Amino acid sequence: MSEPDPKRIADQLRLVIDHVPALIAYVDANEIYRFANRAYETLFGLAPEQMIGRTMREVLGAKYAEAKPHIDEALAGRRTMHDRTVTANRRSHYLHNVYVPHMEDDGRVAGLFILAVDISDRKVLEQELAHKAHHDPLTGLPNRDLFEDGLERALEGTRHSGKRLALIYLDIDNFKGINDSLGHRAGDEVLKTIAMRLRHCVRSNDLVSRVGGDEFVVLLESLASDDDAREVARKLVAHMREPVMVGERAVAATASAGLAIAANGEPGAAELLQRADGAMYQAKSAGRNRFHQA
Ligand code: GH3
Ligand code: MG
Repeated sequence: MSEPDPKRIADQLRLVIDHVPALIAYVDANEIYRFANRAYETLFGLAPEQMIGRTMREVLGAKYAEAKPHIDEALAGRRTMHDRTVTANRRSHYLHNVYVPHMEDDGRVAGLFILAVDISDRKVLEQELAHKAHHDPLTGLPNRDLFEDGLERALEGTRHSGKRLALIYLDIDNFKGINDSLGHRAGDEVLKTIAMRLRHCVRSNDLVSRVGGDEFVVLLESLASDDDAREVARKLVAHMREPVMVGERAVAATASAGLAIAANGEPGAAELLQRADGAMYQAKSAGRNRFHQA
């Protein structure tokens, strides 16, 4: 068998590297590109011939400052990783970068190998999953977990600021009846419409969440006065009275609400929720379609 031809092997390797779905490059200790694969051309329209001989500062432009600490780290002999976004063809790409130092036998760093993988699709998926984990699929509103996080944070914010916050707990009246008479799908439509109404009734930074079947909570921050909170609770209940259109049909729905107010971080989240929930039940007992303050 004849000896393998090193030139042929190098050519084949080059072909492989050019077709790997990753940006692969080598820069020397002066940060000058000595090698770059074709992926740079595919992603940025930058042919390897246009990169080789130029510095990273020239090639990366404004993005150089972001990469520089990692370059220094790798040139000091340590492998580094970082993610950053780059824009190419008016599209934003999320690149996972790995810099591997090229160590000489004597321990000197001769340069660094750059490997960058486009993980944009994975990032989009991660964001979708994170969104799914924290939102109700039917209404798109934040779920109980996200709401409780927001409530804890908001309560913390009131601890030293002297600000007050209000929690309004709403539950649709006789919702089982709507489901029973019109079907579960119609019930879903009612929930969606009510969610949208609640969202539109309050300011954009107020938190609205679906915490259970037909239960919603609204968190009002930066209240000027408790009267304001009562006014919002009254307004929310009034808006619930407007008929909900399900197809051609106008469905009458009402809701009962409970209002509880916190100041200086007191009471805690669980107690505040319990008070608002209790006040909501009092509104139910008093005949529904109204709000009650704890
Ligand atoms: P009340 O006035 O006392 O609140 O009476 P209610 O009939 O509304 O009773 P309750 O609030 O206890 O019941 C809520 C109902 O909501 C129970 C359940 O069948 C229904 N439900 C829960 N989740 C969903 C959902 O995602 N879609 C629909 N259509 N119905 C739901
Ligand atoms: Mg109900």
